[in-house]
Amino acid sequence: MKIICDVEISNRLLPSQNMIGSRRAVKSTLGIGKLNSKSENIFLLHQTAQNKTGNKYKASGNVEALFTRFMSEGKATIRLRNPPHDLCVRSADPIQLNCFLRLLRNIMEGKPENGGSSKSEAGRLKENNCASGEVGKSKPQLSVVSPASKLLASIKRSMKITKRSDYPSIVGFPKTLEELQINRLQLTCLDRQVTRLPLLRILDLTGNRLSSLPKELNLLRNLRELRLAHNSFGDCANGVSSTSQHSSPTEYEKWAWIGGNLITTLTFLDLSYNELKEVPDVICKLKALLNLKLDYNALPLLPSGLGTMFNLRLLSVSNNYLICLPGSLKKIQLEAIDLSNNPPMEILVHTPRYLWPDGMSPSAALGVPTLREWAARKVVSVGLQPTASDIPYQLVSYLSHADFCVCGGPCFESKLKMLISVEPRNIAISVVRTSVSQKPLMLAYLCSLRCLESMRNAS
Ligand SMILES: [Zn+2]
Repeated sequence: MKIICDVEISNRLLPSQNMIGSRRAVKSTLGIGKLNSKSENIFLLHQTAQNKTGNKYKASGNVEALFTRFMSEGKATIRLRNPPHDLCVRSADPIQLNCFLRLLRNIMEGKPENGGSSKSEAGRLKENNCASGEVGKSKPQLSVVSPASKLLASIKRSMKITKRSDYPSIVGFPKTLEELQINRLQLTCLDRQVTRLPLLRILDLTGNRLSSLPKELNLLRNLRELRLAHNSFGDCANGVSSTSQHSSPTEYEKWAWIGGNLITTLTFLDLSYNELKEVPDVICKLKALLNLKLDYNALPLLPSGLGTMFNLRLLSVSNNYLICLPGSLKKIQLEAIDLSNNPPMEILVHTPRYLWPDGMSPSAALGVPTLREWAARKVVSVGLQPTASDIPYQLVSYLSHADFCVCGGPCFESKLKMLISVEPRNIAISVVRTSVSQKPLMLAYLCSLRCLESMRNAS
């Protein structure tokens, strides 16, 4: 049988020679079988696009150990005796990997590899269909490990669907897809099959009518780019609830896919042309995001925690109704921000403008934070993300409504607000805006009198 995965070969002798080998995982097929139908020995065959003939490793009596602790994540290591190589497998389909390693373990333990039928069929056996999920029913079987150039050539890594007739309703999506485009099909909900493509890196759903995505999307381990432009995420009336028969998802359900693995993998998100009137605070969970596109929506404000996305470099919010920018943006240095075609921001005659009642002292306006607020500030600032199975739902909801101070810290009821105008260069290296003479406005939340003092000194 063969599996498709990333393989990094590590030579265990190199460190003792003070040498470091190439530590790069390469897209590969890893096969296990006999060289021909008469051969007694069983081999592992590692092939890549560059090396289609492949490297053969004897498997019988030559596998020293299998490290399978992270098999459920599609990772494992096969330790060989001779040569002293470790084959580090990554990004494999966990079910296929399980079958593959079970077969290898049987060979290590000297068990008949095909439930005793191998002799009669002399090795040339039909390839097992582990990928269909029939792990419990069928045993993995050996095949002849022939050069896999045909197999490598037939691996489908990308798919573009722009017509209903191209949609693989019956055969399903190939498990090997790394890039999937489904454009202009008027889809109102995403096929859950897509959330089970282990190698998917780019998902382009531009030009449909999606108003939500399945929560399981955040189980994808490799998703880097998510393109959702020209959909209906601003529309509450069009989606189908993932958990109930309601005709429209709640705000919580609509964005429940934000989280999980996407927190550390997603670097590009395009939500342009979605008629969004607000962006959910939960988007700030996507800490790996480099590029966020929110053009052509109806946004008056952006989430106050945007400045906690420390990797963000490009922010595009042209053609909205922006009144001001979140003050937490002062915490990060963007490379570029596009603010063009927003209405002119108010020009502040007196800056900063304090947004608490006239005559009230800042300390009175700030108040004393409650114990609940102190606890919540701590929970958010250390990055804990409890769910309703950990704490009461009311507290989960409370935590999700944090605002973020210019210091980057979270605050809830006890906060001060002020409007400040900022020099464009303090937001980003490159600022695209319609009115060049006007300084952008920022709505700053302040979590303490100390942060107020530092803002006053800075402005
Ligand atoms: Zn603060």
